[in-house]
Amino acid sequence: MHETGSPLVLEELDLDQPGHGEVRVRIEAAGVCHSDVHYMTGGLNARTPIVLGHEGAGIVEEIGDGVTNVSPGDKVVLMWRPRCGTCEYCLTGTPALCDLGKVHGQTNELLRGGTRLSKDGVRYHHLMGDSVFAERAVVSHESVIAIDPEIPSEIAAIMGCAVITGMGTVLNGMPDLTGKTVAIIGAGGVGLSAVIAAKLVGAAQIIVSDIVASRLEKARELGATHTIDSSSEDFTARVLELTDGGAHYVMEAIGRPATIRAGFEALRPGGTEIVVGLGAVGEELSIPINLLVQGDRKLVGALYGSSNTPVQLPELLRLYKAGRLPLDQLLDQRFPLSEANAAIEHLRTGAVGRPILVP
Ligand SMILES: [Zn+2]
Ligand SMILES: [Zn+2]
Repeated sequence: MHETGSPLVLEELDLDQPGHGEVRVRIEAAGVCHSDVHYMTGGLNARTPIVLGHEGAGIVEEIGDGVTNVSPGDKVVLMWRPRCGTCEYCLTGTPALCDLGKVHGQTNELLRGGTRLSKDGVRYHHLMGDSVFAERAVVSHESVIAIDPEIPSEIAAIMGCAVITGMGTVLNGMPDLTGKTVAIIGAGGVGLSAVIAAKLVGAAQIIVSDIVASRLEKARELGATHTIDSSSEDFTARVLELTDGGAHYVMEAIGRPATIRAGFEALRPGGTEIVVGLGAVGEELSIPINLLVQGDRKLVGALYGSSNTPVQLPELLRLYKAGRLPLDQLLDQRFPLSEANAAIEHLRTGAVGRPILVP
C-alpha cells in the first residue's frame, strides 16, 4: 500500500535476511481482515509504503541468531500481537497487552528496529510486525507460534486473528455462558467464530445480527438459534423480546458507536457487553449512565479475544483436529496475491467468513 485511499499494488520487494531474534516464513495462506481495510481507508494509521496482512500462516525457512522457539521447517501461525514472555501481562496470561505490541503500532518496524522490506533503496513498512500479503515475511520470533504441521495452513491463518478473537472473547470473557444467552453483533469472521464458541460451551440462545442475509444463514448453520437482519429489524427490541428482558452477554464485532449502544441497551441487568470491533482513531461513544449503574451492567473491551495465545491457540487447534470446530466453514473464496484488491472488495461487500489470499 503506497498511500491511504489507494488500491494495493503487487510489487517485487527485497527482503532482508532474518537478523538476531528473527525468522523468515514462507507464507502459505493469509486471511483478509477488516483491520486491513481500516488501514487502507485511513480509519487506522500506518506508515507507508507498507505491506498489509496480519492473519497468516506458513513454514519457517530460516532463523536468525538467538531464536529458540521455532526451527526451519516448522509450521507457524503469525500473531499480530508479539509477546515477550516475561512481563507482567505475559506472566498473567494476557500477552496481547504486552508492551511489545505497541512497538509495531507506533513504528511499523520490527521489534529490533528498522524494516526488512525495501525496493530501490526505499524502505517499506511492516503491518503489526507481520505483513503476510506476501510470498515471504521476516518477522520477530515473538510474533510466531509453532503449531501441529497437520493443521491446514488456511485454518492456521484464520486462527491468527478472526478465530482467536471471536472464540477467545466467548471462552475468556463469558466464562459462565453455558445455559445463558448471548447476542453477537456482526457475523463476519470474528462474529461467526464467536457463534462456534458459544455453541461449543452450550449457550441456550445464540442471537446473531448482521445486514447480509448469507452471513446470517451461515450463522444459523454454525449454531445461531436466532438471527436478526438489522437492516430492517430493531436489534435491541428483538433481543429484549427473544430473551425475555435482555441478553446475559453481547459481543459487538463491528466497532461503531450506534451498534455498541444498541448492544448495551439489549443487556439484561447484570449483563456484560464485550466490544471487539475496532473504531476509527479517536472515535467515541455515549451510553446512558443510569442504565450502566442502576442495572449493574458492564461494558468492556477485549483485545485479541483476551486470550493467552501460546496456550489457547494450540488448544483450539486440537479441538479443530478432533473434529469439534467447523472452522472450514469460515473459509470463503481463495484469491492469488495479484487479486488482493478483489479479495478486499469481496470482504467489504458480502464475504461469508474470510476471503483467503494464497501466495
Ligand atoms: Zn484482523
Ligand atoms: Zn510481555
